[in-house]
Amino acid sequence: MVYQIQEVNAALGTDDQKSRMREKISSRLVLPGDSLATQEEFEAGFGSALSGDNVVATRVGELSPDMVNRVMIVKPARQDIAKLPEKGDYVVGTVQSAASSIAQVRIDAINDIPSSKDLSGMLSMRDERHRRSSSPVRSADVIRAKVISTTNAIYHLSLDDPRCGVLYTVCSACGGRVIALGRGAVKCTECGTVDDRLLSEDFVTYSRGVH
Ligand SMILES: [Zn+2]
Repeated sequence: MVYQIQEVNAALGTDDQKSRMREKISSRLVLPGDSLATQEEFEAGFGSALSGDNVVATRVGELSPDMVNRVMIVKPARQDIAKLPEKGDYVVGTVQSAASSIAQVRIDAINDIPSSKDLSGMLSMRDERHRRSSSPVRSADVIRAKVISTTNAIYHLSLDDPRCGVLYTVCSACGGRVIALGRGAVKCTECGTVDDRLLSEDFVTYSRGVH
């Protein structure tokens, strides 16, 4: 994907202000669902989206706001690690496909550090404490999950932890913004559709606009 990152310097004032601003925003690593700014402050650009009243990250990367046009941008992280997931690690990933009890997940970060190893994990939802008929995650959702086993070099993932669950999602009917209805469902702010989801604590917090 091609995108343009404006020079932050151009929009800023004195050298002192510049250096302070650079310090504040440089190499700040963000994760999907992280609140970056309010919608009054910035528009959502590459790697971000509106969620509630906030601009949130939709991918793992470094914060690189376009200060001239007030657009929030999350660019791919320069640094990543060669680490492989181990039992007990938390991963952030994107759901590639989901059925009622199993989903395939692309692993984007391990313990909140970006991974470029292009690994896949298998999310099992068979033992989920919230049993339900439909899947608690959908394709393209960004989730946090826990690694419960690496048997046969397959990364088995679980959502059975309060930190785990959906970090970022949109309405499955219209693609609109959603807000949390408790931890088990989301409601679209545009068309009103209610969907089952197992949400992470972070999603619920941001959705209510609490920081
Ligand atoms: Zn909708």
